[in-house]
Amino acid sequence: MEIIVATKNQGKLREIRSALKGLQVHLHGLNDFQNVPEVDEDGKSFAENGLKKARFYSQFFGKLTIADDSGLEVDALGGTPGIYSARYAGIRASDQENRKKLLKELEGVPISRRGAGFKCVMAMVSPDGREALTEGSCRGRIGFKEVGKRGFGYDPIFILTRHGKTMAQLSLEEKNRISHRGKALRKLRKIITKFQAIFYDGCVTYER
Ligand code: IMP
Repeated sequence: MEIIVATKNQGKLREIRSALKGLQVHLHGLNDFQNVPEVDEDGKSFAENGLKKARFYSQFFGKLTIADDSGLEVDALGGTPGIYSARYAGIRASDQENRKKLLKELEGVPISRRGAGFKCVMAMVSPDGREALTEGSCRGRIGFKEVGKRGFGYDPIFILTRHGKTMAQLSLEEKNRISHRGKALRKLRKIITKFQAIFYDGCVTYER
């Protein structure tokens, strides 16, 4: 079974591929195609944006599509950047620019008030309109400087208090075990398995 993963973010795609390993599915990221239209992420929540992307691309490609919408909510900043995490420092901002802006905003804030959480919603939509949503979250603290080279986005400044490490110090497998995305994907994996069962059970085979 083919599934479109509605993202151009290679970091997300790597984690999604790893978490869905072993399922009988072929995953295609949007970078596998040319001239793919963009979707305006103008929803008010992760769920709205995830569903909007998954609905659009499931129609565009005529294939089962999953979309990840995720972001970082910082307590001391009233839950921002949230759904604006990717464009925190500007529309085309790099991950590094976003991290730099966040560290600047938190200057002078002590570690006890640097709590934050990642959230992830995975939306799955089939071309005939069946829809599923799963979510996951993960708590930690924003550090004072970047540590670690792995992952993407805010990982080098997101400290997992219980592990004493940033998200960027974890291997892909370790990150998926505890991350917001890993949690949402474990739930989605079960739904995909059920979906495959329905899909194949409903198949009629003709023999000559
Ligand atoms: P989206 O493409 O609108 O879902 O934006 C997601 C943004 O949230 C990313 O570009 C990152 O800035 C941030 N983000 C989401 N998940 C993670 C993660 O696992 N690690 C670090 N940053 C993340």
